[in-house]
Amino acid sequence: MYDVIIIGCGQAGLMAARELNKTDADFICLDIRKRVGEPLQCGEGIGKRDFVEIFGRFDYPFVLNEISEHRLIYNGKQRGFYEPYFQIDKPAFERWLAKPVMSRIRCGVLCKDIIVNNDCVDVITAKGDFRTKLVIIATGPNHNLQKKLGLTGSNPRLVACYGGIYNGFKLDEKKFYFI
Ligand SMILES: Cc1cc2nc3c(=O)[nH]c(=O)nc-3n(C[C@H](O)[C@H](O)[C@H](O)COP(=O)(O)OP(=O)(O)OC[C@H]3O[C@@H](n4cnc5c(N)ncnc54)[C@H](O)[C@@H]3O)c2cc1C
Repeated sequence: MYDVIIIGCGQAGLMAARELNKTDADFICLDIRKRVGEPLQCGEGIGKRDFVEIFGRFDYPFVLNEISEHRLIYNGKQRGFYEPYFQIDKPAFERWLAKPVMSRIRCGVLCKDIIVNNDCVDVITAKGDFRTKLVIIATGPNHNLQKKLGLTGSNPRLVACYGGIYNGFKLDEKKFYFI
């Protein structure tokens, strides 16, 4: 039995894994994606202040541009505001986050269900079941497991913003767009 199973190896799951790695907890991280960071599923914007507070510096190769202005575009209206932001190469950032915990990561594993027992939790996956004392659900916008456990409503909302999916649009790389 594991001490902890982390479901989801995006930024949240990987940060949890890095923290657990500083302890003697026996843990694994599961993700449906075949490789950490790929395919890119969401945005590449990250707040500068928080980033520097957490990682101490920002001269990493995956930090691409510093963004000077955000523009909120909604229903034909626009509003600009200023908040220091970086555009990052998100797959490279996630690979970098994963480095110290790579041996704990199992990719290509879809978690289908979580069964909470009295003294342990069973994680049901397409590649077999895993027993653990604790689960961290870090599945990002996919709330299926949370819904099954009654942890969220039936229609949780996510506001999508700037991201790789907008590649090909003529965007000013010094501005940050919420669309
Ligand atoms: C289009 C779009 C653009 C966005 N742009 C930004 C932005 O610019 N800046 C920003 O800060 N945020 C943005 N977001 C929000 C973004 O989702 C989060 O900031 C960030 O990705 C959250 O990290 P996370 O680790 O919580 O989730 P994710 O990065 O989504 O990681 C979740 C991981 O869980 C895995 N997973 C999910 N379900 C299962 C399962 N059942 N079994 C196994 N693995 C599973 C997924 O494969 C994925 O790797 C955007 C979201 C979208 C949809």
